[in-house]
Amino acid sequence: MFCLLCDSEEKLYDGLCKKCFLREYKPVEVPEFATFKVCSHCGATQKHDKWVQTGYYDDEIINDAIQKDIKIDPKLEDVEITTEIINNRGTVYECMLHIYGKVIDEYIEKDYPIEVKVEKSVCPDCSKFYSGYYEAVIQLRADERKLTDEEIQKADEFISNEIQRLCKTNKLAYVVERIVLKEGVDYQIGSYNSAHKIAVNLQKQFGGTVKESRKIVGHDKSRSRDLYRTWLSVRIPSFNRGDFIEYEDTPYEVEKIGSHKITVKNLKKGEEEHITWKQADDIRKVKTADDIQETTITNITPNEIQILDPDNYMTVDLKLNDNTRKLNIGEQIKVIKIKDRIYIL
Ligand SMILES: [Zn+2]
Ligand SMILES: [Zn+2]
Repeated sequence: MFCLLCDSEEKLYDGLCKKCFLREYKPVEVPEFATFKVCSHCGATQKHDKWVQTGYYDDEIINDAIQKDIKIDPKLEDVEITTEIINNRGTVYECMLHIYGKVIDEYIEKDYPIEVKVEKSVCPDCSKFYSGYYEAVIQLRADERKLTDEEIQKADEFISNEIQRLCKTNKLAYVVERIVLKEGVDYQIGSYNSAHKIAVNLQKQFGGTVKESRKIVGHDKSRSRDLYRTWLSVRIPSFNRGDFIEYEDTPYEVEKIGSHKITVKNLKKGEEEHITWKQADDIRKVKTADDIQETTITNITPNEIQILDPDNYMTVDLKLNDNTRKLNIGEQIKVIKIKDRIYIL
């Protein structure tokens, strides 16, 4: 048997002597050019199957683009590939590909020029943004009343700040639309995770409760799973600090609205207590600070205090508690009337 190219009688590889084989051997199939995608909107680049935010096209992305588009001969072992950017003209990179590896027990090294072109595209996140896609709706509501203009303005500012913070790490953190309704304001948010964080923080800011419900809105065939949209209802309380509420048949004055609980004064006992937002469904607002009245103490006995009803000036006897024990006859005091009973504040 002879080498097909030089008639040598040495050991043959694919019909060629070692020298001819190594000369003719192509360790890699190099296309005319390789490509990588860049989002025209946000500049993200596609790396393998993922879109990544990078500062700009770097060597690693060029290297990945080349590796994706070349085919390495399976006979080549111990392969090492490096790429070098020789020149950059706009969206075209002229590169040199260095291949190093072992074939038929000989180490070879070959260089190939290759062009890498930037392909303008739209990343999935931008495509969602431009199509108005949203995963969640924050429904801002007030319990048993309308939201005040001040509350709406505060919530708008709060949400806008939250979005600016969250969109640095989540491109779906955007508001598609803000819709003013009779019952409140709806904010359509691109990302469920961001919407959830905002809803939780809104509750911390305004008090009240957050309730979540979700519905199937479609089906993703490519991943064979249902697509959901979530509604996050943030319900801020009907009452404010200084209002009077009723909870489990007991009247309270609201002293402080916190993120986890409401600090209240029990008007029967004159003591401070707490009601958590989980229990808050049963709270009813009964009076406001505007309903506070003034009256006079007419008598004090060891167990009772006598005052005048501010509406009809009839005397009323009330049991003394720790709060009222320190008062004196003739003193002017503030009272609130709830369900025809008078409580000293
Ligand atoms: Zn030969
Ligand atoms: Zn993009």
